[in-house]
Amino acid sequence: MLTLEGIEKRYDDGFMVRVDLEVRRGETLALLGPSGSGKTTVLRLIAGLERPDAGRVLLASREVTRLPPERRGLGFVFQDYALFPHLSVRDNLAFGLVERRWPRERIQARVAALLELVHLEPHAHKRPQQLSGGEQQRVALARALAPEPEVLLLDEPLGALDQRLREGLLLELRRLLRHSQVTAVVVTHDQTEAFALADRVAVMRAGRVVQQGTPEALYNRPKDTWTARFLGHKNVLEPREARAVGLEPRPHVLLPGGVVLGRGDRRMRVTERLFLGGRVGLWLEDRAVRLYWEGTNPGVHEGAEVRVQVVRERAVEVAP
Ligand code: ADP
Ligand code: MG
Repeated sequence: MLTLEGIEKRYDDGFMVRVDLEVRRGETLALLGPSGSGKTTVLRLIAGLERPDAGRVLLASREVTRLPPERRGLGFVFQDYALFPHLSVRDNLAFGLVERRWPRERIQARVAALLELVHLEPHAHKRPQQLSGGEQQRVALARALAPEPEVLLLDEPLGALDQRLREGLLLELRRLLRHSQVTAVVVTHDQTEAFALADRVAVMRAGRVVQQGTPEALYNRPKDTWTARFLGHKNVLEPREARAVGLEPRPHVLLPGGVVLGRGDRRMRVTERLFLGGRVGLWLEDRAVRLYWEGTNPGVHEGAEVRVQVVRERAVEVAP
C-alpha cells in the first residue's frame, strides 16, 4: 500500500535518514525511536512535505515521489495539531471537504459521522480553545480522517497530553485505527504506545530502521542491547553477567519469567523496591550481577536478602 524504496534525505548538519519501508493495506505501522532519530522526517517524506535526495515513495503502486502533499490522498496529524482557531469544531471538520467541493448533504453526513466517531457531538459548536487538550486532539484526528484518506499519518498523536488523557485517547485511537481500515503510520518515542497501536513496529535509530516486526516478535527477540533497552527490557546482561548466571559469556536478555523469586540458590540483596500500584518492582544485586524482578507484592523490603533463580530457558542472546 505504502512503500519507501531506498529513501535518503540529508540535512546540512550531517544528519541523514536512509530507509526502506512497506506498510500493507489496512495495517498500522509504528515508527518508534528516541527523539532525533528521524521519525518526523520519514513522515514528512511520506507526506510530501520533504523531497528525498534519493529513492521513491509509492502509494498503492503509484509513484508519488514528486507529487505535492495535497495530491497524495493522505491525512495527517502533526505534533502541534493546528486547528483553525476561529472555526467551530464542526467547521474545522467540514473545512477540507468544502475545499474538495463535496456536495453539502454529503459534508453534513460525513461531519455527523465523525463527531459521533470521536464522541464530540456535544462540542460541535465550540471553538478549539474552549476544548481540553484531549478533545482538540480528537478534532485533529477526525479532521484528518474526514476526506476518507487511504493513508493516515500521525506524529506523536498523544504527545502533548497528560498521562490520564493519554490512556483514554490511546484506547480510542486504537479502536479507530482498527475499525476504519485505514492504512496508518504512527510516529512515537513511547514503546507502550507503539505496542498498543501498531500491527507492526519499526524501530529507528540515527536515521535508520534497525529492526521491525510485530510487537511480540520485537520484544521477544530484540536484535541488540540498545534495541532491547529501548523496548523496555531491564534484564539486559553483559557478557560477564551472563556467565555469572550460567549462560554463554555474550550479551543476553532475560524475558519476563526469567527471574524467579524465593527459590534457587542465588542470594541477592534488594537494592530498590519500587511500588508500581498493582505490582512491585525489585532491583536485585549480588557481586556478579544486577537483576530486575516485577510481580505482585512479595512482601520484601529494601535491604533484604532473597533467593533468586534465573531461568535460563527465558534468556535470549542479543548482539552487543
Ligand atoms: P524525530 O522526529 O525522531 O525526533 P526528526 O526527524 O525531527 O527526529 O529530526 C532528526 C534530525 O534531522 C534532527 O536532529 C536534525 O538533525 C535533522 N533535521 C530535521 N528537520 C530538519 C530541517 N528542517 N533542517 C535541518 N535539519 C533537520
Ligand atoms: Mg518528531
